[in-house]
Order: sequence, then C-alpha cells, then structure tokens
Amino acid sequence: MFEQMENAGLERLHLACDPESGLRAIIAIHSTARGPAIGGCRFITYQSEADAITDATRLARGMSYKAALAGLPHGGAKAVVIKPDHNFDRHALMKSFGRFVQDLAGKYITAMDSGTQTSDMDSISQTTKWVTCTSQTGDPSPYTALGVFEGIKASVKHIHGSDDLHGIHVSLQGLGHVGYAVAELLYKSGAHLTVSDIDNAKVLKAVNELGAKAIAPDRIYGVEADVFCPCGLGAIINDHSLQQLHCRIVAGSANNQLEREEHGELLRRRGILYAPDYLINAGGLIFVAMQHAGQSDAAINSKVRQIGTSLGQLYQQADQEDRCTHRIANERAETIIARAALHSAA
Ligand code: NAD
Repeated sequence: MFEQMENAGLERLHLACDPESGLRAIIAIHSTARGPAIGGCRFITYQSEADAITDATRLARGMSYKAALAGLPHGGAKAVVIKPDHNFDRHALMKSFGRFVQDLAGKYITAMDSGTQTSDMDSISQTTKWVTCTSQTGDPSPYTALGVFEGIKASVKHIHGSDDLHGIHVSLQGLGHVGYAVAELLYKSGAHLTVSDIDNAKVLKAVNELGAKAIAPDRIYGVEADVFCPCGLGAIINDHSLQQLHCRIVAGSANNQLEREEHGELLRRRGILYAPDYLINAGGLIFVAMQHAGQSDAAINSKVRQIGTSLGQLYQQADQEDRCTHRIANERAETIIARAALHSAA
C-alpha cells in the first residue's frame, strides 16, 4: 500500500469503517501544500476493496493538478464510499461519512462525484462543515459545462483563427449532467451536433431539442467532425479509438481521458489538438471552491470563463516548443505544487 501511495504521490490515505451504518470509506489526499485538499466523493460498487483504494488514489492527483492550474488555494483529494451490497440507510451512511470528514479537521473538503447527489451532501452536512454541493449551494455541472464550452471555443480559435462556432461540427459522447449542458451551449452558438449515449431517451431529447444527429455509441469515434467532445467515460483516448478518430480537436469534460500518457503523444502526431482534461473540466471545482469561500456568482463565472484563456496560452506554448499539451500542463501543475510544498516546509 505504501508503494502505491508513493507512486501516486499521495500525502495521506485515510480509511474508515463503521459497522453500524455499513460505512467503508477511503479518503486519499494527494496534497495540502496549497491549502485544504478538495475533491468529490464517489458512491459506487467495487469488485474489491483494493479496487476502491486504487480508484481514490489514482484520482486524487488529478484534483491537485486541476486546483493548481485553476489557481485555487487548495490541494487535491478523492473520497470513495463503497456502496454496500446489502440493504442500508443512505442518510445514516452519509452522516457517518460526514463524521469521518469532520475528524480530518478541514484537511479535506468533500463534494459530489459519481453516485452522489446534493441530497447526500445535505446528509453529510449534518455531521461536518467541510462539505460543498448541498441542495442550498447546488450542482457544479453547469459550471463544468461552461468551462468546457469556453475551452472548445479557445480550441477552435487556435485551429481556425476565430472562435465563431457557426457551422462547426462537434461529435459529443455522453449526454449526462455536463454533456447535455455543453450540447445546449454549442447549439445556441450555431454548432452542428452528432451525439451518442447509452441512454436512448437522452439522445432522443437532443435530437428533438437541439437538432442533433444521433449515432450508435460504438460509432462516435469515427464521426468526421471538427471537435470530438468526450463527456461520458474515462480512458476513451486509447489504441482502439485512436485508429478511428476523424477530428482536429479533442475537448470534453470526461476525467482521465488518456488511457496512457503516450496516447497524448499519438494524438499530437496525428495533428489532433488535445485540451488536457483537468484543465478544461475545472469549472465545477472552481465553483465548488469559490462558493465554499463565499465568493460571488460574478467572480465564479469570470474565473470559469478564464479556462478558455488558459487553454489558448497552453496551445501557443505547445506550438512554440513542439510538445504535447498534456505534458506541459502536467509540468506546470507539478511546479506550482512543488513551489507551494517548499514554501510550506520553510
Ligand atoms: P453523468 O453520469 O451525468 O453523465 C455521463 C453520461 O455518459 C450518461 O448520460 C451516460 O449514460 C453516458 N454514457 C455512459 N457510457 C457511455 C457510452 N459508452 N457511450 C456514450 N455515453 C455513455 O456524468 P457527468 O456529471 O455529466 O460527468 C461526465 C464526465 O465528466 C465524467 O467523466 C465526469 O467524471 C466528468 N466530470 C464531471 C464534472 C461535473 O461537474 N459533473 C466535473 C469534472 C469532470
């Protein structure tokens, strides 16, 4: 386990077990050098406890990078509550998780993630104040979508010299909380959409409301489009999809899009511009962190819109240095975190 922590660069790994509520939870803290670690809490089933630990561990670093590049005074973390395979009282379970968060005395701030919703955050808020995304504060997805939309505009501008989306064709995978909101923003800006989801009702809605063309989930990669916008699954840039991609830009909300680091290099060799996932999808985290700090909607909106500017600067640097966007983004984030760690150690 310690080797796994070292490989992931983790500062701390906390485990909690509460037989009364059925809680089995993990909080993986990557870094607190820039401030309290912040990151979502997953509530899904896992094949094994080791899988749950691996999931929390591998996602925590990305949250630190996301917070660092967004200029937020936070480190990154990820929590996992293993979904019990027997009957359980969800409210009691979440309250128990809240006590676990409270025990860390502000080193970790929790938020929504796969499988959790605002009502869970309400339950958690009964036992800790280190929680965001309650029904009073809201769902971060619209802000993630706004950041992705700004990122797509910046990417189109880099390729075509203008961020006018009229006539731009976007193939979009996953019409969930973020994906559908991105599709709406694109539609209103004059883009054409081809969409896929495993949930047919969502696809039908996009066809009817946004004039989108529907395509089967396994055929989305081969669509000839200006932009491929992945908003569903992780690891979707892989050996299989790379052979099929027919676009100039990959820019979407999904976390951990590159199955392996080398897939970013392969995108570049194929002349496809890649918007690093943790940079373009930072809007939700910006909302969560700034809202927790009591900042105004106007300030949050303005900060989320800066994602486009940051991406534009990254693309220029990548062109000048003839390097991959994701490698430059990783280096930038690592430098910011290392400087903060030096400062806090001094
Ligand atoms: P969601 O669960 O609401 O939506 C995911 C959608 O993808 C669903 O509609 C699902 O049916 C669809 N999907 C699943 N498998 C698919 C497949 N094989 N082909 C096509 N569609 C498929 O999740 P979300 O909150 O919209 O998040 C989407 C992605 O963005 C996730 O990777 C998430 O980690 C990431 N993300 C979300 C946020 C946020 O604020 N919600 C923030 C940062 C990153």
